Amino acid sequence: MEKDAKIFIAGRYGLVGSAIERALRRAGYAKIVGLPHAELELTVQAEVETYFKIEKPQYVFLAAAKVGGIYANNTYPAEFIYSNLEIQNNIIHACYQFHVKKLMFLGSACIYPKFSQQPISEDELLNGKLEPTNEPYAIAKIAGITMCQSYNRQYGTNFISVMPTNLYGLNDNYHPENSHVIPGLIRRFHEAKTRNLSEVVVWGTGAPKREFLFSEDLGDACVFVMQHYSGNEIINIGCGSEISIKELIELIKKTVGYEGEIRFDDSKPDGMPRRLLDVSKLHALGWQHKTRLEDGLNIAYQDFLKKYKAA
Ligand code: GDP
Repeated sequence: MEKDAKIFIAGRYGLVGSAIERALRRAGYAKIVGLPHAELELTVQAEVETYFKIEKPQYVFLAAAKVGGIYANNTYPAEFIYSNLEIQNNIIHACYQFHVKKLMFLGSACIYPKFSQQPISEDELLNGKLEPTNEPYAIAKIAGITMCQSYNRQYGTNFISVMPTNLYGLNDNYHPENSHVIPGLIRRFHEAKTRNLSEVVVWGTGAPKREFLFSEDLGDACVFVMQHYSGNEIINIGCGSEISIKELIELIKKTVGYEGEIRFDDSKPDGMPRRLLDVSKLHALGWQHKTRLEDGLNIAYQDFLKKYKAA
């Protein structure tokens, strides 16, 4: 990627897109474009085509997606499959039509089967049934991977796909129901602390295990992989270690400084029992994460406080 190349980040203002932009700037790239959702509707093909015609980007990061935690995925399945298929169809096809030199498509760790062998290697893709709570989202992302590979095969494009693990960090979504576990609980513990509540309710049994990667590490990994890998294989992006939801909740409680009790509401779904990515391909390419979960959680909490006070 030439340092003066024009780079379009679809989803520039989200958790992932903003992390990619900061990582690009740290690496010396400055010609970065992308519009907020209110100014460019990526689900509408004509808008995407016009944008590519005007901007003529040379490199594209596809980090725009309709995303959410276990509750949002379960409650709005139609929106998750429709919006994601539309966004990625429009952008991937525009990258072909407008001769983009290289595209990175951001998938997700939830594309892998529910009962995958752990840690989950890239070869597990399409080896079994998906976790039902996020199947519509996962099927859209799998379609995106196959689309990139198919365009490479038929048209000789350079479209690559990476699968990030669970993410958290700067510019996260702190919605009380629709968010992922870390931002959701940062908010719930913070509100319980400021309102002196004696108890916080958390979802599921606490038994599932997850792997968490800090946004700034993800941004660096994406830029690194864009610079150093071309090909049809998908690449997992993670930190290589997992933690139970119960232990995670204790860490968030400590980070926020909440001193009351925790109650598990097991009428709420647990989702996938375990989800730890095998990151040996990424390590072999030469990239490893830097941020410890404790440190990342502290930074995320400070970021939350800034937004919460501003709102
Ligand atoms: P997932 O990794 O795709 O399942 O997405 P989430 O980040 O939404 O959930 C991860 C795990 O955290 C699941 O086992 C949830 O049941 C559990 N969890 C516990 N409390 C919460 C909460 O307040 N919000 C969310 N989103 N998940 C929670």
